[in-house]
Amino acid sequence: MSMDKKAFFKISYGMYVVSSGGADKYNGQIANTAFQVTAEPPQFAVCINKQNLTHEFIQKSGVFTVSILEQDTPVKFIGHFGFKSGRELDKFADIEYKIGITGAPVVTQNCLAYLECKIKGSADAGTHTVFIGEIVDAQTVKEGEPMTYAYYHQVKNGKSPSTAPTFIKDEKIELKEEKKMPKYKCTVCNYVYDPEKGDSDSGIEPGTSFEDLPDDWVCPVCGVGKDEFEKID
Ligand code: FE
Repeated sequence: MSMDKKAFFKISYGMYVVSSGGADKYNGQIANTAFQVTAEPPQFAVCINKQNLTHEFIQKSGVFTVSILEQDTPVKFIGHFGFKSGRELDKFADIEYKIGITGAPVVTQNCLAYLECKIKGSADAGTHTVFIGEIVDAQTVKEGEPMTYAYYHQVKNGKSPSTAPTFIKDEKIELKEEKKMPKYKCTVCNYVYDPEKGDSDSGIEPGTSFEDLPDDWVCPVCGVGKDEFEKID
């Protein structure tokens, strides 16, 4: 029997910004693989792609911070940290953050709580490195529901049912439309524009066809223009 990779999707994850750096050079990236590994002492692990600038900064500084994102985090914010490279832009230019006790930046925007870690070890995982750090500080920023990876995919990309109020609204629109408008997929990041949902983060009302999107509309996740999208059935 061949391996069923769909089984992987049954694992739950959160959504985090992992940041590192020091001496005025900061970077951060979205990670869903971040988890506590021991209680005494409290240690935390993150899994980071070796090609990412954050990986380089963690190796150099020996510290990293983890910001736990709230459920209402806009996809644009996730795109900013997830689909842009810190080698091309300063990701911290227009973002709320502070410098933690480790000297590494801590993203405080859309953040419920954060941890600061000092590297104690690492494991080579081929394309990635698993960094294990001792938690040296942890603070709550505000109360709220943390975003899960599943929520990001189901609600923010509009695929599956959810208890979210926006979903109920979309269901009604779907019944009203006689002909369904086609969805379009971003060829860069795979974000799907669903006309029935619109793009609330950019002020696009549900029921707006892809053709009717303004010419200057950009992918809310990675920021490319309409010409990078293709129609999907
Ligand atoms: Fe995109």
